[in-house]
Amino acid sequence: AEDVVRNKQVILRDYVSGFPKESDMQVTTGTTKLKLPEGSTAGVLVKNLYLSCDPYMRSRMTKRDPGASYVDSFNAGSPITGYGVAKVLESANPKFKQGDLVWGMTGWEEYSIITATDSLFKIHNTDVPLSYYTGILGMPGMTAYAGFYEVCSPKKGETVYVSAASGAVGQLVGQFAKLSGCYVVGSAGTKEKVDLLKKKFGFDGAFNYREEPDLDAALKRFFPEGIDIYFENVGGKMLDAVLPNMRVHGRIAVCGMISQYNLEQPEGVHNLMHLVIKQARMEGFLVFNYYHLYGKFLEMVLPAIKEGKITYVEDVVEGLESAPAALIGLFAGRNVGKQVVLVSRE
Ligand code: NDP
Repeated sequence: AEDVVRNKQVILRDYVSGFPKESDMQVTTGTTKLKLPEGSTAGVLVKNLYLSCDPYMRSRMTKRDPGASYVDSFNAGSPITGYGVAKVLESANPKFKQGDLVWGMTGWEEYSIITATDSLFKIHNTDVPLSYYTGILGMPGMTAYAGFYEVCSPKKGETVYVSAASGAVGQLVGQFAKLSGCYVVGSAGTKEKVDLLKKKFGFDGAFNYREEPDLDAALKRFFPEGIDIYFENVGGKMLDAVLPNMRVHGRIAVCGMISQYNLEQPEGVHNLMHLVIKQARMEGFLVFNYYHLYGKFLEMVLPAIKEGKITYVEDVVEGLESAPAALIGLFAGRNVGKQVVLVSRE
């Protein structure tokens, strides 16, 4: 029939332990009917345009009991799911209509039926690149916003350190820090990324952590008076080096610990006593609990993008065939900026 189309999919072959490999995923080509199932009451049928590669997806590749963590495991043998930007082709939900552009949880495939429409956001502003809704205007953007403003309560003149600073979240945290009148330093894993931090995102300083055998010495070089705010993306040795360099009443927003995600045994942290000495606060957060601020966030960030006050770097690969390599590349630092997969140009 004419409404049957090709549907490439990225399947999780089996659950993963240790570092994920491209061969843990498989790109298959099947077909799908471009029609919602008979009797659908809430779902939408979408064409996926951009998919987001995010570090948390690694934890979904591990087999765990349902409800054991804040996100459930993927289903082995089924398409991966993740954040993306899509176009609505058919809707059984009165909140969405054909032709709407949306971002939220979708499938790693050409066409998806999304039943959990509560987590879909309608895209109203299309005078910015649509792919931005996987990054600066989507989940990572909200993460930077919630983590920096809500968890860290920054004040003008404070010193801020960001790890994994050139990535989807970090590049924005650094720019928010500058807009707040803070001194901000970032670390990243290549010279190219360090240059981006200084020249493109306006960090006051930046260093390549891979070339610093003594992280404590590097931090003391950039923060002779200590760190008021640490935006933690990396964990492990980096966190241990930061703790003794915190200032009195410092704040650590624990956004993520990417250096730990592929370890069978997490590394120990030794310097927690410095939280006492510095009367510092370390607080983890999950972006999902801050989406009520999304409207307020857009009001700040959209004009800032249009006026050139905030800039954003993306690393876009083309085609679902490229998606597995792009996803695992996050854990080797291969992405320069936000990692996006272009599935289709509308
Ligand atoms: P990025 O775009 O920053 O990509 C990941 C980067 O992490 C890589 O490019 C690499 O950069 C760095 N990295 C990878 N492995 C290591 C390692 N072993 N040691 C140090 N750095 C490493 O990702 P995001 O901006 O999307 O995510 C950043 C962090 O935020 C992650 O920890 C993620 O889990 C977390 N997060 C948390 C959320 C929440 O709700 N709490 C929501 C979204 C993200 P480099 O070359 O610099 O090493």
